[in-house]
Amino acid sequence: MRSAMAKRVRTRIAPSPTGDPHVGTAYVALFNYALARQKGGQFVLRVEDTDRQRSSEAAEEMIYEALRWLGLEWDEGPDVGGPYGPYRQSERSEIYTEHAERLVQSGHAYPCFCTKERLDELRAEQKAAKGRFGYDGRCRSIDPREAAERRAAGEAHVIRLAMPTDGEIVVDDLLRGEVTFEAAQIDDQVLVKSDGYPTYHLANVVDDHLMEITHVIRAEEWISSLPKHVRLYEAFGWELPVFCHLPLLRNADKSKISKRKNPVSLNYYRRAGFLPEAMLNYLALMGFAMPDEREEFTLAEFVEAFDPAKISLGGPVFDLEKLTWLNGKHIRGLDPADLLGRLRSEQLGDEYLLQVLPLAHERIDTLADFIAYAGFFFVGDVDYDETAKKKMVAKDLTPAQTAKVFRTLLEESLDPILEWNLESVEQAMRAHCERHDLKPKQLFMPVRVAVTGRTATPGLFDTMAVLGKEICRRRLRVAMDVLRTMKT
Ligand code: GLU
Repeated sequence: MRSAMAKRVRTRIAPSPTGDPHVGTAYVALFNYALARQKGGQFVLRVEDTDRQRSSEAAEEMIYEALRWLGLEWDEGPDVGGPYGPYRQSERSEIYTEHAERLVQSGHAYPCFCTKERLDELRAEQKAAKGRFGYDGRCRSIDPREAAERRAAGEAHVIRLAMPTDGEIVVDDLLRGEVTFEAAQIDDQVLVKSDGYPTYHLANVVDDHLMEITHVIRAEEWISSLPKHVRLYEAFGWELPVFCHLPLLRNADKSKISKRKNPVSLNYYRRAGFLPEAMLNYLALMGFAMPDEREEFTLAEFVEAFDPAKISLGGPVFDLEKLTWLNGKHIRGLDPADLLGRLRSEQLGDEYLLQVLPLAHERIDTLADFIAYAGFFFVGDVDYDETAKKKMVAKDLTPAQTAKVFRTLLEESLDPILEWNLESVEQAMRAHCERHDLKPKQLFMPVRVAVTGRTATPGLFDTMAVLGKEICRRRLRVAMDVLRTMKT
């Protein structure tokens, strides 16, 4: 067998389109991209949309846009095609079914007919006995002929992978070397759900193999799935790719990066005026040190110097201040014409200006008024003066309670909006008031002040729609911090 290293390098990013494009996706994409480019191989984009409930086209579009903005172009993908397509998992169902059947035939997988009630009961028993949670393998002992008959008769079932029941499973990770798992601790993973859709594990392994991916570079959170994946490769009789699990990006307190503590959507960084090259530079620094320890470098320089075996395993802390500092360095490195071009394509782009202008049109008497009136549309964070701070506290509530209201508003009603526009924002804000027994006025003035720094602005929903989800979210978070430090 040829070793994976000798083949043409093929890497991939395999995002699930279930929300805003995440900074972690860019981080993982960057390392995959760099390896493929350095080795003259291919970088593939595969959309993992097997979770039909949570996946959306809008989210998929945003992934494309964000990765293109960063300049991480892919060679194959749902939108550009390629010889290994389709590249969207929802279009590959038959391939997964056929592969799952192969495993059932060879005895590496089995149909499981256990009902939800039985599984709930099992879980309750395991909880009471303080034992390990997991499937107990009951359906593994059903005679394959009987199982086939029950399936043919239409009995509801899933397909599970038959994991070894004892011994150790040793897997190899490029950064960690051998990692050992106790087989008995690993569940018989569901490969095909009762609706016939594959789970991530099956689809991911089948696709990585069929798409001839040589290096699976992905986030550390998947390392616990590795024994199941390795087992799947063995069961199919396939050669393993090289696995490389990148340390997770972290908040300052070392927890996994989260939107409560850092902006995590790539849309935020674009809207807040970060340069794509500075983002990439910063993300590269999160996992890799240049041989000469230089902190500022270009994507091309990174591609040349990158060595996946030298990725650092420390938990990289994502630090917005440091990113801002680095961005400043990149900004200063632009010649004036380039800087002007950047402003004109982002902050001062016609597209954006044409959204802001109608909101200011009726309220300005000179052209110069525009800057004073609409300045908050063009900055990152806003300042809150004393009047603003007072108005930011919701009527009849304390500052701390208002901060809580903002938090619930964000998490429950604003974060889930994928298509952010006048209608969706208005609908979400009004529904939120009703659900939480808040008077619209009680909520709207504080939100207006939080997202603009001002008490008099164009219509709140228009303003929020134009500012965009990311800036609104960020300003509400900053406002929450301000509110928390205010006296009641
Ligand atoms: N769909 C998975 C994700 O969203 C991909 C993980 C992998 O790269 O295997 O992170």
